[in-house]
Amino acid sequence: MTRFTVAIDGPAAAGKGTISKAVAAHFGFAHLDTGLLYRAVGAKVLAGGDPVQAAKALTPQDLDGDLRTPEVAQAASRVAVLPDVRAALVDFQRDFAARDGGAVLDGRDIGTVICPDAQVKLFVTASAEVRAERRYLELVEQHPATSRDTVLADVIARDKRDRERAEAPLKPADDAVTIDTSDMSIEDAVAAAVAQVQKAFGQT
Ligand code: C5P
Repeated sequence: MTRFTVAIDGPAAAGKGTISKAVAAHFGFAHLDTGLLYRAVGAKVLAGGDPVQAAKALTPQDLDGDLRTPEVAQAASRVAVLPDVRAALVDFQRDFAARDGGAVLDGRDIGTVICPDAQVKLFVTASAEVRAERRYLELVEQHPATSRDTVLADVIARDKRDRERAEAPLKPADDAVTIDTSDMSIEDAVAAAVAQVQKAFGQT
């Protein structure tokens, strides 16, 4: 099969992960959650490491740790503003996108910077309140003391940093299709994404 890349970008907790996994499973494509790369670098910095060295030395094992905490998320978005950190992670992402058999990559700059030639570009978004509530429900299962207000403040702070940074800011590519999941069920959001991919995939 020829190469086929699906780029899925959007702000924190918009449903990109769920949609990306479902699209990858539906079409038999490989999936890369690029946020994990930045989270792994952020975790190394929290442990006292240098961000650029950490990004250059990243190994697949580094992606296995407990990276889904709010502290690591904030650390990830702080290292993500550094151009040298971003540059160190480009080749890995582009190699992944270029594999035979199709690939779905989700992140913030996939359609704009990493894979500007992707056959499908989706921008998955939702209101900050809806996204924070979804993230809260995920986190509270493991950490019962989680506060809704803190989760909302974290999401807003991270979005602001991601949108306002100079290098590869979070924004839809000019040719991206936006899916606003604020009032959609997971099933409907997945179906909308699958339909977009089907339309482009059918033409290859
Ligand atoms: O997607 P996730 O919430 O795991 O991403 C964590 C952080 O990593 C984001 O807030 C963002 O700062 C950064 N990131 C990025 N570019 C990507 C993916 C994630 O800057 N492609």
